Amino acid sequence: MGEPLSVTVLPGKRPRKHEATLTVYAGVPGLIPIGEMIRSSSAEANVRVHTEMLARQQTARKVLAQGACVTHSYCDPDHSGGNRHLLRPGMEQSLVDLEARTIRGMAVVDIDRLTRLSSVLERFCAIYEANEDAWRKGKEDQLFWYCTDGEVDLRTEAGRDEARTRVMVAKREREQGAKRQRRRHAVLREMGTLVGPRAFGHTTAGELIPEEADAIRLLADAVDMGQKVAPVVRALADKGFVGRDGRPFTHRRVQVILTSARIVGLRVDGTTDDGIARDDQDEPIRGNQPAIIKMDQWLRIKARYAEASHSEAKRKYLGSGSFICTCGTVMGAGWKKSRNTYRYSCLGRGDSCGSNSLHGPWADAAIELLVELALEQDAPEVAEPEPWPEADQLARIETRRSDAKARRDAGELDAETWLDQDLALAEVVGGLRRSQRAWLKAHPLAPAGPANRALRERWRSGNEDQRRSVVRDLFRGFIVAPAVPGASVSERLTPVPR
Ligand SMILES: [Zn+2]
Repeated sequence: MGEPLSVTVLPGKRPRKHEATLTVYAGVPGLIPIGEMIRSSSAEANVRVHTEMLARQQTARKVLAQGACVTHSYCDPDHSGGNRHLLRPGMEQSLVDLEARTIRGMAVVDIDRLTRLSSVLERFCAIYEANEDAWRKGKEDQLFWYCTDGEVDLRTEAGRDEARTRVMVAKREREQGAKRQRRRHAVLREMGTLVGPRAFGHTTAGELIPEEADAIRLLADAVDMGQKVAPVVRALADKGFVGRDGRPFTHRRVQVILTSARIVGLRVDGTTDDGIARDDQDEPIRGNQPAIIKMDQWLRIKARYAEASHSEAKRKYLGSGSFICTCGTVMGAGWKKSRNTYRYSCLGRGDSCGSNSLHGPWADAAIELLVELALEQDAPEVAEPEPWPEADQLARIETRRSDAKARRDAGELDAETWLDQDLALAEVVGGLRRSQRAWLKAHPLAPAGPANRALRERWRSGNEDQRRSVVRDLFRGFIVAPAVPGASVSERLTPVPR
């Protein structure tokens, strides 16, 4: 097959972990271009993929011997062929391409690789049936077909029937398998036997296990009150409450237990945002297990974990949490795929302006420079920074600017007049900022708090968290002026020392 010409991601109804793709290979003159259906991309390395690759190679050799070559490879990694509720973008695309004769046939290792649904099989059959008709009348060449099992052949009526039978038999077997499994579990449950991994605090039948429920309440109280979880986990481990590996609960395990809707007596659905199963009216469904903690506490705990993960995700870069937009919002950091870099930006939520952003690496470089400057000064341990004499003037102009912007937004000022004014004011602001920086250099920053030596050590430790903490110890933040043509990133920053 050689190197692919292109790989296209086929959008599905919902985003999935592994996207459906179409890989196109160069055709060979004289050979019939055909499509194949695969389940996993070659990027995944496991036994299943390996077996599949071998099967594909074998198929490729067989079809080559029959005058065809695979030019289109359709892959639906996260879509089981048997689920009628899942759209299979790869399979749908193959139908489109086959209909358009972009490909002139299909090669499948096994019919259930093509589909496990009779309805889908019929769509393929219809195309082949129409082609058979046209071919017999001499209007079109016959479409190509290859299946490892020679009896399954969509080009002939007998072969199509064989395919239908296979799909139906496979479906019945799957249903019976699932039914057997359900029956076995039900019987085991009635006998009080555990089926599968049991959730902490409840039996599989949904009965409360009092001592485990108590442990959950202890953990819940600790998290709810913002206390450390580790001592509670250790105390529980001493009492014999440990994970399946015999070790104390990990923080992750505690989080999983405490954020599960199971412990407030609701039915769990891992596919929803809040993990709660809901009925048609969007009402949470009661589980058959009793609640262990109260709903309000559970919601607070969920919020705490959400907040923690939020701030963790936000504090990734050196300037995370330190850049303050002129509108007063702390700017967030985010990766910008299109620019292949990260940016700090005003998020535009609530009252924030949402129209101010900074090139991430440049902004961090500017902070580094300011920190280095501050660390060079052998300042006394505690000192009040001297106020910059022109601070009032800058504040007045900033107020005038935002007033003018508000009047423009309210329609009291036409856009052109406003822009003229604003550009003039921006120039004045730029001049003031320059004089402010010159003044700050002449009047060294005097950090309050830890001595510079300790700060320097932390700064040079190379540890990102430590470096960020130095920035925060030295500066309350950096006020970021909106971008003005010609202004560099560092010119837009006004450091606010501690
Ligand atoms: Zn803003």
